[in-house]
Amino acid sequence: MTDDLRSLYEEVILDHNRNPRNFDKIPRACSHSAEGNNPLCGDQFSVYLTVKDGRVEDVGFKGRGCAISKASASLMLEAIKGKSLEEVKELFDKTHRMLTDDSEFDDEDLGKLEALSGVKEFPMRVKCATLSWHIMNAAIQESEQVVTTE
Ligand code: ZN
Repeated sequence: MTDDLRSLYEEVILDHNRNPRNFDKIPRACSHSAEGNNPLCGDQFSVYLTVKDGRVEDVGFKGRGCAISKASASLMLEAIKGKSLEEVKELFDKTHRMLTDDSEFDDEDLGKLEALSGVKEFPMRVKCATLSWHIMNAAIQESEQVVTTE
């Protein structure tokens, strides 16, 4: 990763931490929700989705956590809003690979989500970045269980 790219990524993370999108909001006609936590860091979030006709129409989240966990949730919800459940699943898989796969990640089009790729260098923070994704997945699967990274 070049220094330019690294500072661009840092900027995106800081921006979404300071100004999280869809934060502290439960969308109208919310149909799916789930909560989860990452005890290692103290991150704790709930994710709310309005799913209609197989598409994520609206999104929101609440909770608290470190900069990485909050920015990841904000970036994720921004990315999945308007997408079909199939596209969301694909995005989940790609992002999960980006964050956890040891092999060099060179996927094409994750857009802003690529800002999260830097956490791979900090194994302790990977769970912070993946937490909201697992919560979102549980919400879509209508799982009643609280998600935990442990
Ligand atoms: Zn964290």
